[in-house]
Amino acid sequence: METLEMKTKIINGSISCLSELPEEKIFVVSDPFLLETPIFSQLQAALASKQVKIFSNIQPDPPIEQVMEGIEEMKAFAPEAIVAIGGGSAIDAAKGMKFFYNKLEENAKIFFVAIPTTSGTGSEVTSFAVITNKDTGTKYPLVTDEILPELAILDVELVKTVPPKITADTGMDVLTHVLEAYVSTGHNDFSDAYAEKVVQLVFEYLPRAYKNGEDTEAREKMHIASTLAGIAFNQAGLGLNHGIAHAAGARFHVPHGRMNAILMPEIVAFNAELEQNVNNECITAARYANLARLIGCSSASSRAGVNYFIRAIKKLRATLDMPSTLQEWGLKKQDVLKEIQIVAENALKDPTTATNPRKPSEDDVVKILEKVL
Ligand code: NAD
Repeated sequence: METLEMKTKIINGSISCLSELPEEKIFVVSDPFLLETPIFSQLQAALASKQVKIFSNIQPDPPIEQVMEGIEEMKAFAPEAIVAIGGGSAIDAAKGMKFFYNKLEENAKIFFVAIPTTSGTGSEVTSFAVITNKDTGTKYPLVTDEILPELAILDVELVKTVPPKITADTGMDVLTHVLEAYVSTGHNDFSDAYAEKVVQLVFEYLPRAYKNGEDTEAREKMHIASTLAGIAFNQAGLGLNHGIAHAAGARFHVPHGRMNAILMPEIVAFNAELEQNVNNECITAARYANLARLIGCSSASSRAGVNYFIRAIKKLRATLDMPSTLQEWGLKKQDVLKEIQIVAENALKDPTTATNPRKPSEDDVVKILEKVL
């Protein structure tokens, strides 16, 4: 049975529509950087007639302590709605707050609005929130439909200030979401449709958005692509690329999208079993080849398609001036090697790894990490 369930209403338009919210008491969750920008002034103007409490402490890769702090403020304020505005970190932290607050205040009915200011995580339409536990050095994905936002507002004006590096990181996160959803054991025709569209959008518009942040068309296409990718992986699940990125990200503090991009060609090669079944066709390889044809590959062979796709990822990554190894990013070889085993262990435990098309061993993960050293 294939299902596509969509709870979140998506508005592609200005955040000024927030003034129409019927709720009066609004708890705003954001990050300290955004608080100082014109984006925040626009938000305040839209909420001018409401009672507003702002929680703006959120740091990238939000730790559980910040979620707990937010819950304490919610208890004192008793909001009717949460408006999370920011990148995936602010939206995920707000999701964590909503989830645990609802557990404490059983009758609380809180309307949840997510307004992404990066084009990357798709968190505005997913049942995922990634929270970091600093004590154990792990990133923990909270996965439940209870944290799906009721409303997502995609306002292209908000993403124009995203600097090129973060545009590249978050854009590659979008690509990882659909590559993983497309070959996931949970994929279906619905998630495939979103994934195929997103691959085309990313290869066409991400280089433009990177080159010129004021390019409204490119920014809008990438913002929509990010949400479409969120819908795809919310249906189909993710895979080993994210499993390793979560485990490695918590240890090495490489930005999430950059870690995904460093790993991506090796994960495609691993899933397509390039080294194993050199002469045999593999279903996953055929699926990557479908995607390769969407971006210009003319060969009917799966193997040629996979190789074309890997080359296209590397070319895109180079166009975005992104590192191709952990050392190029700035990590020391010996520091990575010290942590490699624990990262591999945690990657296998990460829930996103469960839907990877090829079951990895700890040794496989170590080898992948060694290749991107
Ligand atoms: P982020 O939220 O950590 O933000 C990165 C930086 O960009 C921050 O310094 C922020 O202040 C800045 N920023 C945000 N909007 C800006 C703007 N408009 N202009 C200028 N600067 C801006 O980055 P992200 O990549 O959006 O989110 C990453 C987090 O999301 C990670 O914790 C990752 O694990 C998680 N994640 C969640 C999901 C999900 O489904 N919930 C999916 C993928 C990743």
